[in-house]
Amino acid sequence: MKSDLAHLTIAKARELLDRGDVSAVELAEAYLDRIAKENPKLNAYLEVYDDVREQAKAADQLLAAGKKAALTGIPISIKDNILLKGKIASAASKMLANYTASYDATVIDRLKKQGAVFLGRTNMDEFAMGGSTENSALGPTKNPHDISRVPGGSSGGAAASVAADLAVAALGSDTGGSIRQPASFCGVVGLKPTYGAVSRSGLMAMASSLDQIGPLAKTVADAEILFNAIAGRDPKDATTIDRPVAPAVANKKLVVGVPRDFLEKGVDPDVLKNFETSLAALKSAGVEIRDVTLPNLKYSLAVYYVVMPAEVSSNLARFDGMRYGLHKDAPTLLEEYLATRREGFGAESRRRIMLGTYVLSTGYYDAYYGKATAVRELLKSDFAAVFAQGVDCILTPTSPTPAFKIGEKSADPLAMYLADIFTVSANLVTLPAISVPSGFAKRDGAQLPLGIQFTAPYAREDILFTIGKLFEQANNA
Ligand code: GLN
Repeated sequence: MKSDLAHLTIAKARELLDRGDVSAVELAEAYLDRIAKENPKLNAYLEVYDDVREQAKAADQLLAAGKKAALTGIPISIKDNILLKGKIASAASKMLANYTASYDATVIDRLKKQGAVFLGRTNMDEFAMGGSTENSALGPTKNPHDISRVPGGSSGGAAASVAADLAVAALGSDTGGSIRQPASFCGVVGLKPTYGAVSRSGLMAMASSLDQIGPLAKTVADAEILFNAIAGRDPKDATTIDRPVAPAVANKKLVVGVPRDFLEKGVDPDVLKNFETSLAALKSAGVEIRDVTLPNLKYSLAVYYVVMPAEVSSNLARFDGMRYGLHKDAPTLLEEYLATRREGFGAESRRRIMLGTYVLSTGYYDAYYGKATAVRELLKSDFAAVFAQGVDCILTPTSPTPAFKIGEKSADPLAMYLADIFTVSANLVTLPAISVPSGFAKRDGAQLPLGIQFTAPYAREDILFTIGKLFEQANNA
C-alpha cells in the first residue's frame, strides 16, 4: 500500500477522495494489495469480492458527477452474516457454505446508495455464536496485535480487518457483545446501536430480540459516520425506530456512572488499572464520575444464556436441509434432518440449539425462559433508575481480560461465556453501547489492546459519540 494510503480513517479518506488526491479505484487497489499480503496470515476475510474494482469505478463516476455521499468510494468489509445480493453469505457455517444471497440487507442497500465499496466478507463465529472466532467452520482469525491470540468474536474478522488496515471500516453484528468485545481485543472502536436503530432485514438471525448490526471503525467519529449511514426506520423490519433528533449534549457537564461493586471480581488487574487511568482521563476532561448500583446486573449473564439459546433454537430451526443450505440424503425424512444438522452445524451451534430447546420445553419454560424474561425486565428498570438520577452513561471495561490465546478457552464453553460479563446487558436492555480503545496490557512481549465501554439511555447514541470523542482526546493527551 502506498504509505500515504495506510491507516486511513473514513474522514481522512473522504478528504483525499474529495480533493481528487486519490481515486476510489486507487484506494480500493491499495486495500486489495494489502489484503493479498496480510490475509493469508490473519484469515480476516473469507472472501474478497471479484468486483471491487468495478464498484470503485462506479464510485469514481459518482464523484466525478458531483453526487458524493459520506461513504462514496470508501472501502469497507462486511461480516459474513449480512446479505449482499449475488454474493455468498455463509455465517461461517458448513450449513450455508454455498449459499448465495438473493437480496440486499437494508444496511447494504443504504451503503450502496451512498457508493460505498465492499471489499469482501469477514470471518466470524458460526452464526455469530462465540467470543473468539474459533467457532468458524473456516478456521480462526488471528489477532493482528499477536497472531497467537484470538481477535475476539463473533465479529473477529471484522475487527481484525480494521485493526490490520485491510478495510477503512467494517460492519459487524452484536447479540451479546460481538462488535464491542472484538473491537476491544483488536484496538478499534465498536458500536452496538439501540435495538431497532438499525434494520435487521438481511441479517441472519441469531437471537432476534438482541441482534443489531453496527460499525467497527478506527475512531468514534468514523463509527458515527457509518451509523448515520445505516440507521433509521425500515418498512422491512417492524422493530426499527426513526432516527432520533437527539437533544445536543454539547455544553453540559457529563456524568458517568460506574457500577463499582460489579467490577470487583474476576477482572484482570491490568484491565482494572487501565480502567482507573481511563476514569482519571475523563475526570481531567471535566467529566463527573459517580458510583452507581445496578442490583440485577449480576444476573445478566445467566439471563442472556437462557434467552439467547432459546431464540437461537427457534431461529436455526429453518436450517433443515430442505429449503436452503446443506442437504444430506438419508432413508427417512427424520434421518435427513438429523444428518443434515449434525453435519452442517458445529459443536457450539448444536450445544446452543439443545440448550434453547430445553429451556423452552414444557415443564421447564416457566423455570428458565419465563424467569429469565422477568429478570430481564428488572434489569431494564435498574438502568432506567440510574439514568433517572442524572447519569448520562454507564462505564465498565469492555472485557474482563485482554485477548486470550487461540485454544485457551475453546474446550471450556463456560469460561468463554464468562468473558461476556460486561457486554450482554446492553443487548438485554436494548440500549446503545460503544467500546473505545483505552490502552494496552503487555503479555509475552506483545502490547494487547484494551477497551472501555459506555452504555447510554435508549436512542442516545449521540451521548456515546460525544463522550467517546472526549475520551479519545483525553486519553491521547
Ligand atoms: N460472545 C457472545 C456469545 O457467544 C456474543 C455473541 C454475539 O454478540 N453474537 O453469544
